Amino acid sequence: MSKIAATPLPHAPSYYAASANAAPARPALQGSVEADVCIVGAGYTGLSCGIALAEAGFKVVVLEQARVGWGASGRNGGQIVHSYSRDIDVIESHFGRAVAEPLGRMMFEGAQVLRERVAKYDIQCDLKQGGVYAAMTPKKVHQLAEHQALWEKWGHKDLSLITDKAQMRKLVNSDRYAGLLVDQTGGHFHPLNLALGEAAALEGLGGVIHEHSGVTRIDRGPTAVVHTAQGQVRARFVIVACNAYIGELEPKLAAMSMPCGTQVIATEPLGALAQELIPSDYCVEDNNFLLDYFRLSGDKRLLYGGGVIYGARDPAHVESIIRPKMLKTFPQLKDVKIDFGWTGNFLLTLSRLPEVGKLSDNIYYSQGCSGHGVTFTHLIGRLLGEAIRGQAERFDAFARLPHYPFPGGRFFRVPFTALGAFWYEMRDRLGV
Ligand SMILES: Cc1cc2nc3c(=O)[nH]c(=O)nc-3n(C[C@H](O)[C@H](O)[C@H](O)COP(=O)(O)OP(=O)(O)OC[C@H]3O[C@@H](n4cnc5c(N)ncnc54)[C@H](O)[C@@H]3O)c2cc1C
Repeated sequence: MSKIAATPLPHAPSYYAASANAAPARPALQGSVEADVCIVGAGYTGLSCGIALAEAGFKVVVLEQARVGWGASGRNGGQIVHSYSRDIDVIESHFGRAVAEPLGRMMFEGAQVLRERVAKYDIQCDLKQGGVYAAMTPKKVHQLAEHQALWEKWGHKDLSLITDKAQMRKLVNSDRYAGLLVDQTGGHFHPLNLALGEAAALEGLGGVIHEHSGVTRIDRGPTAVVHTAQGQVRARFVIVACNAYIGELEPKLAAMSMPCGTQVIATEPLGALAQELIPSDYCVEDNNFLLDYFRLSGDKRLLYGGGVIYGARDPAHVESIIRPKMLKTFPQLKDVKIDFGWTGNFLLTLSRLPEVGKLSDNIYYSQGCSGHGVTFTHLIGRLLGEAIRGQAERFDAFARLPHYPFPGGRFFRVPFTALGAFWYEMRDRLGV
């Protein structure tokens, strides 16, 4: 049985919630309904899949325990980052060419799906073009060059590596970096407004979304029955898209993964100073193991994120964690006020690769993008749609990746993982 909040869960106190586009109240499920597909969770995974299936004529019902985009999808950094949390060279070296090949062919597709949806359904989410990966040491610049070569090998030709200081300052005006890899096909957007726009698109296609409808149990069978406190959906197919917020709903999925928190702050609007900080208006993430990510919002605030809390305890003072990181990058912001600070959970897997598969013949899941899910969730939504329509080849390419339980079980997985991460963090601090 999943533990479901007795009272409605409000959105996290983020800049995104404060600047969200108007959205209808979506009543909780009451009574018994029938659907072709019942999707649990209204984040990008659920919504993206819902749109793919509704476009193909399926009757889709989405059940969300809180609000549309309440999870990571409504609170993230809003950065379009290609590929997977472990890149395709690591996948190839661990699992071989035959496993890597189809994944490599799909590593830039998620961003295309996202952009197609924004254009097709006219979603107002401040979508901007251009992203930058930043390196702090010569060794890390070398890693960027390897990254560029790898992605070029897989067909991405829109990358350029810059090490000239004056040129770098025209993109990101910080002293911290030794090199920048510019990706013209990266970009950024308002994450909650993307989720709200996708929800509206799904409803426009005949899909139904019930908020405040936490799923407590899924009964297996040729017709699965998905239960909430006040209702049930009988469906031919079910998709579990709960990611880091799954709780106790499906213990098998929870055991293979670990929720982790990461925090974001939003400054007050910066006016002309915003353009001085990031003249390109591109999004930026560094290539450290525990990375910082930042960008400007539509109304010219700096949104700065970073940090990882293994096990996802909500920190009391987000600003005190993230502000020092921001000031290392932009000391010129020392007198700037922070208007918002929030935390959100992503789902880490031991391999850092997504976990995709089936719990039974007609119950599918996808989870665990390990902090790198904006594009993957859009890709997998499409692939889940293909699988349910009987073309499972591309879905199976991900489903065949092995899923590992975390060492240490439920009680020791957090300290074990934190210890491992500490090693990589020290290497980054030493610049090796
Ligand atoms: C702060 C932060 C910054 C990030 N920044 C980036 C970034 O810049 N770029 C990037 O690529 N990735 C980023 N990520 C990761 C990315 O946001 C996620 O990978 C992605 O949004 C996951 O989408 P999802 O739909 O799978 O999960 P979620 O968006 O978390 O959605 C899961 C939904 O399931 C619902 N749910 C759970 N249990 C139940 C239940 N029993 N019944 C009904 N509903 C239920 C939840 O309420 C939730 O709404 C970030 C994550 C965080 C937290």
